[in-house]
Amino acid sequence: MTIKKSPWVSFYNAGGCNGCTLEFLACTNPKFDITRFGIEVKASAKHADVLVVTGIVNKHNRKRIINIYEQMAEPKRVVAVGACAITGGIYRGSQAHAGPLDNVIPVTVYVPGCPPRPETIIKAILEALDDKNTKQGKKD
Ligand code: SF4
Repeated sequence: MTIKKSPWVSFYNAGGCNGCTLEFLACTNPKFDITRFGIEVKASAKHADVLVVTGIVNKHNRKRIINIYEQMAEPKRVVAVGACAITGGIYRGSQAHAGPLDNVIPVTVYVPGCPPRPETIIKAILEALDDKNTKQGKKD
């Protein structure tokens, strides 16, 4: 895979125990150093090529996640990090759970684990940047 530009990543923590959030943040430290791929983490999804989501979709953040996704420019990619984002994880079946994430927005790459390791998250972001993995449109 060839990355044609320096991709920007936006991050949304939907909740959970924050374990996945800490692993994502570790991607930016000198040990894992996501910047060696030219990747920068940006505050606004409007500027992002990839949206990374951790934690569970719930009744309160469901609309917010759709709103964030809709602000992104095409082609947009989404990486679901951790069991909570993918299935609800330990919160699956709780009254708050309104996921999984791919019932709300299209997911490009899934990163299983509770939590996944930073290397796995970085690999998934790089896979998401591969155009053949990009999905268009939004689920309702
Ligand atoms: S998948 Fe596991 S580590 Fe990640 S937020 Fe959920 S409970 Fe925490």
